[in-house]
Amino acid sequence: MTLLNVENLTLEFDTDEGRITAVDNVSFTLEPGEVMGLVGESGSGKSVTAKSIMKLNPENAVYAPGSKIELAIGNEQIDAMSLKTSRDMKVVRGGAVSMIFQEPMASFAPAITIGDQMVEQLLLHKNMTKKEASNLSVEMLERVGISDAPKRFKQYAFELSGGMRQRAMIAMALSTSPKLLIADEPTTALDVTIQAQVIDLMKDLVAEFGMGIIFITHDLGVIAQTADKVAVMYLGRIIEQGLVREVIRTPAHPYTQGLLHALPNLEDLDAPLTPVPGDIPSPLERPRGCVFHTRCPVAMAGRCDAEVPQMQNVGPDHWTACFAVEDQRMAS
Ligand code: SF4
Repeated sequence: MTLLNVENLTLEFDTDEGRITAVDNVSFTLEPGEVMGLVGESGSGKSVTAKSIMKLNPENAVYAPGSKIELAIGNEQIDAMSLKTSRDMKVVRGGAVSMIFQEPMASFAPAITIGDQMVEQLLLHKNMTKKEASNLSVEMLERVGISDAPKRFKQYAFELSGGMRQRAMIAMALSTSPKLLIADEPTTALDVTIQAQVIDLMKDLVAEFGMGIIFITHDLGVIAQTADKVAVMYLGRIIEQGLVREVIRTPAHPYTQGLLHALPNLEDLDAPLTPVPGDIPSPLERPRGCVFHTRCPVAMAGRCDAEVPQMQNVGPDHWTACFAVEDQRMAS
């Protein structure tokens, strides 16, 4: 059974300046044991999309009719859009679905020990005694490579190093055996060595627990190392998606090509980095037509600024929404 099915998700926020579109008609699926990368610059809508799954967006969020998020939990298909109360959400938040953040201090209360927080979460979501919850928590800390776990269990978050806190947060997120883990920029704040360790750890855990992971990042390099498939987002829309090896080797959309050209080339360190020109527009000034046309090097006036390109299949498990790609395929 498909673990997560997101279909036509459209989400707007009511703000003092007016209603802004944060997520626009987003669709994707995730199977158990699969890692999907959600990539894009800040403001692309990737975190808002992921938070929609756990209904963690603020109260001014308005979901458009027809938006669908379905989660397979046990043998049941749960309609996440219909979950309203915190009691309804209990099955999803911290139980079947866990989320880890860029800054682990956001996940831990500063005045409660790591161990007490892990135990409390287990008692809330699992049918176990306090002793069993304590034993499992220490075991999870050990599993994520924290040395002297019984000692760390009794410490506060501020007493741990950055890398250790990140691992403790992963241990806490995994202790309830979630079916889906949402990792929002989990390695961005870490130095490169620890980043590599955390990525390896997450890969091991997917293999061991068979869970699905949504990995949110602005870094396509990290996605190339971790994910099976990827969705590239820009101003709330998925503009390209598919198997990682297809998208990275043969990027079709000018924005994805731009993101890849902005990565350093280890084989040619003298090659200049060419970042995508300009900045992502404010959602209050959302461009008409293709949302990327204000920065696109091959935009066609009169077409790209007027019509919205639709997703087209451009290769095995590979789709993109771009008129230039469409024209090229028609011509060949
Ligand atoms: Fe560029 Fe037009 Fe393609 Fe958008 S649809 S990416 S503006 S060529």
